[in-house]
Amino acid sequence: MAHDEPAASGAPTKLVIKNIGLMLSGDIAAPILDADAIVAIDGRITQIGRAKDIDMEGATTLVDANGVTLSPGLIDSHVHPVAGDWTPRQNQLGWIDSTLHGGVTTMVSAGEVHTPGRPRDIVGLKAMAITAQRTFSAFRASGVKVHAGAPVIEPGMEEHDFKELADAGVRYLGEVGLGGVKDGATARKMVAWARKYGINSTIHTGGPSIPGSGLIDKDVVLEADTDVIGHINGGHTALPDDQIVCLCEGCKRGLELVHNGNERAALLTLRTARELGQLSRVILGTDGPAGSGVQPLGIIRMVSMLSSLGGVPAEIAFCFATGNTAKMRALDCGLIEVGRAADFVFMDRAQHSAGKTLLESVQLGDLPGVGMTIIDGIVRSQRSRNTPPAEKIPSIVKG
Ligand SMILES: [Zn+2]
Repeated sequence: MAHDEPAASGAPTKLVIKNIGLMLSGDIAAPILDADAIVAIDGRITQIGRAKDIDMEGATTLVDANGVTLSPGLIDSHVHPVAGDWTPRQNQLGWIDSTLHGGVTTMVSAGEVHTPGRPRDIVGLKAMAITAQRTFSAFRASGVKVHAGAPVIEPGMEEHDFKELADAGVRYLGEVGLGGVKDGATARKMVAWARKYGINSTIHTGGPSIPGSGLIDKDVVLEADTDVIGHINGGHTALPDDQIVCLCEGCKRGLELVHNGNERAALLTLRTARELGQLSRVILGTDGPAGSGVQPLGIIRMVSMLSSLGGVPAEIAFCFATGNTAKMRALDCGLIEVGRAADFVFMDRAQHSAGKTLLESVQLGDLPGVGMTIIDGIVRSQRSRNTPPAEKIPSIVKG
């Protein structure tokens, strides 16, 4: 039930989606596409366009979108998974499946730091990261892609440790600062080693999240120079406003806004990024599971909050959770583009929203209703059990 992967062999699969009312591209430079149909073969997008110009023959799965909006599947840039679909943080099962029902099809681990008794010694932390990378790539809860295996750096690590991790398949560092390395100079050296071997990095920005973690201020963040400024709006405790502005102005790295953070600081970051003409740096995460719980609707709540209170067109806000993140995190999903993973979410305005369209409803602060998700060309969920009910939902004509 929770684990149906594409067949490893056999005939090719062909997904055809027609009657898409509005197609969001995920690309902040051109967020709306002039298209109403998509074809994907063996889980990859092969055609995007108008139905009359598209080869719909031989579909193994045919979806009628019934006029709703299609977006790239949403990406959560900041999660803390532990084992399968269980989190010990709130002792809860099924949080990944619940999040799929919030439109999220891909998650990036910022460290498996809630693992009870997590090792802090170097051989132990490497072993745990490789184990998490292996287990989450071999088992996908409800089909969701969880890029896990994100080691948290500790003093004493050397260049060869990062090479070994990369050779073993590790692609992301956990939040710098959650381990024993809390100074900018050491962090900078290790982050550069990670980058040299293709490992993408993030950092815990702001005050301590839970007893045992510490303060990471703007000087440490700028010196460490991670690919992403993890929760620039705090997790939950944010830096002072002048430091946040300084981070936006002082580098070109990703500006990650999380649900488990300070909303006022998120809006300040958004405003600053817009003034700089750099909204392409804004990406979204939940930082869940966390002390504040699991957040199945965290990403769409962020999209709606930033669009409504931050005055950003909804089609741009969706890019924060799709294409922007894909680019900052080096993912093969997040954009409606030939060759990309066929990961989609279908949404419509929630029933009785004051907004006349999906985009208007989000700009008014309502949540979209999720009607279906597709990952790697396979339907993974239909009407969401978690969002407000969508006005219209897609239907499976064949497959
Ligand atoms: Zn953090």
